[in-house]
Amino acid sequence: MTRVQAGKIEELRKGFQGEIVLPGDGAYDEARRIWNAMIDKRPAVIARCAATADVVRAVSFARDHGLVLAVRGGGHNIAGSALCDDGLVVDLSRMKAAHVDPARRRATIEGGAILADLDAATQAHGLATPVGINSTTGIAGLTLGGGFGWLSRKYGMTVDNLEGAEVVTAAGQVVRASATDHPDLFWALQGGGGNFGVVTRFDFRLHPVGPNVLSGLIVYAGSEAKRVLQQYRDFVAKSPDELTVWTVLRQAPPLPFLPERVHGKEIVALALIYAGDPKQGEALIAPLRKFGTPVGEHVGVQPYAAWQQAFDPLLTPGARNYWKSHNFATLQDGLFDAIVTALGTLPSPQCEIFIGALGGATMRPAPTATAYSQRDARFVMNVHGRWDDPADDKRGIAWAREFFRASAPFATGGVYVNFLTADETDRVRAAYGPNYARLAQVKRTYDPGNLFRTNQNIEPA
Ligand SMILES: Cc1cc2nc3c(=O)[nH]c(=O)nc-3n(C[C@H](O)[C@H](O)[C@H](O)COP(=O)(O)OP(=O)(O)OC[C@H]3O[C@@H](n4cnc5c(N)ncnc54)[C@H](O)[C@@H]3O)c2cc1C
Repeated sequence: MTRVQAGKIEELRKGFQGEIVLPGDGAYDEARRIWNAMIDKRPAVIARCAATADVVRAVSFARDHGLVLAVRGGGHNIAGSALCDDGLVVDLSRMKAAHVDPARRRATIEGGAILADLDAATQAHGLATPVGINSTTGIAGLTLGGGFGWLSRKYGMTVDNLEGAEVVTAAGQVVRASATDHPDLFWALQGGGGNFGVVTRFDFRLHPVGPNVLSGLIVYAGSEAKRVLQQYRDFVAKSPDELTVWTVLRQAPPLPFLPERVHGKEIVALALIYAGDPKQGEALIAPLRKFGTPVGEHVGVQPYAAWQQAFDPLLTPGARNYWKSHNFATLQDGLFDAIVTALGTLPSPQCEIFIGALGGATMRPAPTATAYSQRDARFVMNVHGRWDDPADDKRGIAWAREFFRASAPFATGGVYVNFLTADETDRVRAAYGPNYARLAQVKRTYDPGNLFRTNQNIEPA
C-alpha cells in the first residue's frame, strides 16, 4: 500500500464493527489462510466484517483508494480467489447468522456461513436445501457458482432454490435482488460468481429432508473398477431423482469398516443417499452390492446432517490441492479406460477422482434460465490432486493434467466454474457458456469498473 492509503486505515477503522487485520498483526497469518495451502497471498488489509454496514465501508474504501478487492466467504475456492496480494479482503467469515421460517419453508443466512451452519439451522426443522458435500465449504461461493450436492437430483442446483439476496454493489449501495427486485442482478447471481457485488444475505427455499436418511458407502477393489463403473452408468440412468450415487476412486483410507488388507490399496467407492422413505431406498440400492465382490460396506439410516459431513475428514484444510474438472453428458468406456490408468498411477494417498451424478432436477431448467448454464452436465468429474509436501507439486500436477487430457475426448467441453484452478483462465468463457454476453451486460450495470475481478472474471460489456 502507498503511505497515503496506510494513513487512511484509521478512517476505515472508525465505526467499523468487525476487525481490521494488517500485516504484522498477530491474527494476520491465520486470517490469510484458506483451504488450499498452495495459495500464499499477502493482502494489505483484511476487513473482517461483522455487519452489512462494514461491508459497505470496506467496499467503498477499496474502490475510493484504488485497491484490488477480494471477497472471502468460506475460503474454499481452489483458485484462491478469496484473497489478493497487496489489496483489501472483504472477509465475511464472521457473518454466519441463520434464520429459518419453518412454516414458509424459507431460510435466510449471512454471506460468511458455511454449509454446516445452514444444515444445522434447517435440519432442526427437518428441512434442507441442496448444497455441497463438504460441510466446511462456504455457502456464498458455492451458491454463486451454481452449487450441487446430494439433494440436487431431487431439488435442483443450489441456485434453483435461491429466492433472493442482499447485495452490496460496487457503488456501495445495498440492494435486494429477487425475481421481482433487480431481476437482472438476481439472474446473474444464480451462477455468475462473485462478479456483481458482495452478497451479505441469501434467502433459500427449503424442502422436507430426513432428518434421517439412508446413506453410506459400498466399496469395491480397484481391480474391479471398469466393471463397476459400467454397471454404475447403467444403474444411474434408471435411478429416480431421490436416489443419488457418486463414485470416488482413490487409495483406501484406514476406515474401520474396511479390512486392513485393503488400506492403502486402490478402491472404487459408491457413495449414496436416498432422499425419501429409507425402506423404499433399501430396495432400490440392492443392485449396487452386486456390481462385483464388495470389500466393505457402511450403509445405514443416519442423520442427513451427519452424511453431509461424512467426507470432511478426507477434505480437511491445510493440504496442497490442484484440481482439474470435466462435465460429461454420458460416461463412455474410453473414459473408464483413462480412469483405470489414472487410478493405477495415483501420485499420493490423498488424490482422488470424484464423479458426481447430477441429472434429474438439475437438467430441467433451460441453460439460459439462470446464469448457471451447464444443464447438460449429467456428471461432473473432479480430478482432485492433493498432497502435503511442496516437493510433490510437480508430480501431482502432472498426474492431474495428464488424466484431464486423456479424459477430454469424452467430455462436453463445459466446466463447473467453482472447480476451475488459478491457471484455467482460458476456460472461464466455457464455464459461463451461452450466458457470457448477458452476464457482461449485467456486469456493466452493477460493476462497470470491474471492482469485483478477483474471481472467474466477467468483463463489463
Ligand atoms: C473440499 C471441497 C468440496 C467441495 N464440494 C463441492 C460440492 O459438493 N458442490 C459444489 O457445488 N461445490 C463444491 N466445492 C466447490 C465450491 O463450491 C467452491 O470452492 C466455492 O467457491 C466455495 O465457496 P467459498 O465461499 O467457500 O469460497 P471463497 O474462496 O471464500 O470464495 C470464492 C469466491 O466466491 C466469491 N464470494 C465468496 N463469498 C462471496 C460473497 N459473500 N459475496 C460475493 N462473492 C463472494 C468471490 O468471488 C470469491 O473469490 C467444493 C470445494 C472444496 C474445497
